[in-house]
Amino acid sequence: MKEIKNNSFQNMEEQQVYLSRVLEYIKTNKKTQPKACVETYGCQQNVSDSEHIKGMLVSMGYALCDDTDEADFVLFNTCAVREHAEARVYGNLGALKHNKRRNPDMIIAICGCMVQQAAVCERIKKSYPYVDIVFGTHARHRLPEFVYKTIFDKKRVFEISEQESEVIEDIPIHRDGDLKGWLPIMHGCNNFCTYCIVPYVRGREHSREPSEIIKEVKEMVAEGFREITLLGQNVNSYGKGEAHGVNFAKLLRMINDIEGDFKIRFMTSHPKDCTEELLDTMAECEKVCHNLHLPMQSGSDRILKLMNRHYDTEKYYHLIEYARKKMPDISLSSDIIVGFPGETYEDFCETLRMLKKVRFTSLFTFIYSKRDGTPAAIMDDPVSREEKGKWFKELLLVQEKISKENYKDVIGKTFRVLCEGEGREDGFMAGRTDSNMVIEFKGDNTLYGKYLDVKVTELTNVLKGTII
Ligand code: SF4
Repeated sequence: MKEIKNNSFQNMEEQQVYLSRVLEYIKTNKKTQPKACVETYGCQQNVSDSEHIKGMLVSMGYALCDDTDEADFVLFNTCAVREHAEARVYGNLGALKHNKRRNPDMIIAICGCMVQQAAVCERIKKSYPYVDIVFGTHARHRLPEFVYKTIFDKKRVFEISEQESEVIEDIPIHRDGDLKGWLPIMHGCNNFCTYCIVPYVRGREHSREPSEIIKEVKEMVAEGFREITLLGQNVNSYGKGEAHGVNFAKLLRMINDIEGDFKIRFMTSHPKDCTEELLDTMAECEKVCHNLHLPMQSGSDRILKLMNRHYDTEKYYHLIEYARKKMPDISLSSDIIVGFPGETYEDFCETLRMLKKVRFTSLFTFIYSKRDGTPAAIMDDPVSREEKGKWFKELLLVQEKISKENYKDVIGKTFRVLCEGEGREDGFMAGRTDSNMVIEFKGDNTLYGKYLDVKVTELTNVLKGTII
């Protein structure tokens, strides 16, 4: 059993002191309220982290804005999963040089998975001298301290220690939405898939206490949130090794028992830890959406082994069949990596075969991106990028056909949707089904946030329907 540590109160108490000092400084020294712009790259976990970063900035006296040109404080919350995202961050960081020249008091910060890599941190130290604060994934809650030190000590701050912090609660939060919200239930990952940098930059898995999660869900429901997505790199292993003995299926039941008209989603699941107990729970809990994102990554058992995924296609397909038996209306989505080192065209064809067999509603597809420091980065990779590009296009065509056929099947059916906002055409609103499909229908903003029954009438470039 892991030892239960709860230093989060002391941690945040210390940060609260820094936060108050910065707030006092801003109130006394700034004629107008300074603006902060937070740009987020990567996954929903980062989006959620940025909501806490914004919460801390607002508590320190900043107003939020979306434009780096207007901002007195710019922060990039970065991702390390793919190479091109990193290149984009360097480009955007380069552009800030002119902003800093115009506004020398401006503070520039960069944080997240990308800077947790020592080589990246070194590059920023040397080549981007106008960046004031650099901090890694384990130090996010210490932003008030870093801002304080930048203002008062006038020194650059670099904090990318690999020492993992325990789960920190009570960090201020400024949520981006008012209808749909993110709720991390755990941090880190223990799986070490050979292509993935996440376990190296986000550290080992730590689950939040069930009581803290329940408290946060209740607060969100009271604030009017209608859809809560539970987040984790592998939510299926929630609670493993923790003293509280609550696994993910039990946690779902506890959240489902909370009163209120709201829906629960979760991501991401790992097929090796996805159980029949979890699928039964999804089927039995009326608030849990029948929507499962189950990353398959490859349809070749040989490649799955090289990826260190700990399941094979037989186990994967069994989960799909079981989920469909228990929830005939379930929608399934997945992630696929094309061109993993050593993958042959035959391996790739096995992935295509699995796609045709499973018939996912939607698919997130990526060409393998080499991440230094991972085992896959030193594997033989003889297939050219150009060839991988051809396979990738072939896969997209196969999935496009499947998706179109799946969509045609829903014409004439009625779905309960949550009205999320305006549609693409004037006079239309858009709603999302439990299964994550978007349907557009005639209506206006008075429908926002309501659950409605909508009958699908046609498929143009979007699904259209009418309110029943
Ligand atoms: S489960 Fe695998 S792919 Fe997902 S974050 Fe962990 S190591 Fe990366």
